[in-house]
Amino acid sequence: MIYPLRKIFILLALITFSTIDGYSQPIDSSKSVKSISITFDDLPLNIAHYVSTEEMKTIVERLISKIRAEGMPVVGFVNENKLEVDGTLDVQRLNILKTWLDSGIELGNHTYSHKSANSVPVIEYERDIIHGEKIIKGLMVDRGMKLRYFRHPFLMTGRSMAVNNEITKFLVDHGYTVAPVTIDNSEWIFSAAYDQAKKKGNTSLMMIVGQEYIKYMKAKLQYYERQSEKLFGRQINQILLIHSNRLNSEYFTILCTMMKDLGYKFTTLEEALKDTAYSSPNTFTGRGGISWLDRWAITQGKTKEFFADEPRTPRSILQLAKVDSE
Ligand SMILES: [Zn+2]
Repeated sequence: MIYPLRKIFILLALITFSTIDGYSQPIDSSKSVKSISITFDDLPLNIAHYVSTEEMKTIVERLISKIRAEGMPVVGFVNENKLEVDGTLDVQRLNILKTWLDSGIELGNHTYSHKSANSVPVIEYERDIIHGEKIIKGLMVDRGMKLRYFRHPFLMTGRSMAVNNEITKFLVDHGYTVAPVTIDNSEWIFSAAYDQAKKKGNTSLMMIVGQEYIKYMKAKLQYYERQSEKLFGRQINQILLIHSNRLNSEYFTILCTMMKDLGYKFTTLEEALKDTAYSSPNTFTGRGGISWLDRWAITQGKTKEFFADEPRTPRSILQLAKVDSE
């Protein structure tokens, strides 16, 4: 039998203990840590078709130096046709691609010519996957690395489960892991607007686009944090997609500072994919190349209200970029 006084003491001790250590409220460590893996698409440079090889070199070197300064692990997805000039492999462009690898950045396959799984026959898409590894596979083997990640161009994964499954099986059979994206965004529109402002020689307009870009990305991150909380009751390991372009070569440090201020730690893609969220059912076959968080939500039958308040690209940016809609 416990004496009343002793009972009170034990109760007090328990209350104190639970107050100090949160004993009675187990802490979900995943809630207190936000992690994000950063991936770059369209290497060596997204805007390869309208810049000179010399300019490409300058932009890529500037971007890589910013990535290195952050000391973060990123994966860059390559379109090998961007190594060509007039249909022929350009040695200088190939050397630019090598600087990514030689800076310790892992490469992934993003198909040879950026075709959409929604608009070409599966056989043609599969050919573009194989064509897309022709050079990078060897470059990675030379450096003791294995080509292991694949990213769907436009994030489009096929208009039927049959197509989706066939491509997935093909990728698995060829040793690939799909690199999904949870923080999807319209950064490419900001990039186009930024380059238009540069073309006009308008540096103050370039600065406005840069500032709007950071503001927009912050809102997007916060939006997907809310979606993660609503779907999983916690912050999942997020995967961000941005592109190798001029805008990021100038704003990547500011972008990273903003993410760090939001509480993000940078992680590898491999680590991010260990989150069980990535095994969630996904039967999405819609037209859009959308976030995997949206795919999981749609698969669960979430309705329009679930996706309310998603940040949009400002009209002024769309107009400057000469893009009709997101
Ligand atoms: Zn792409």
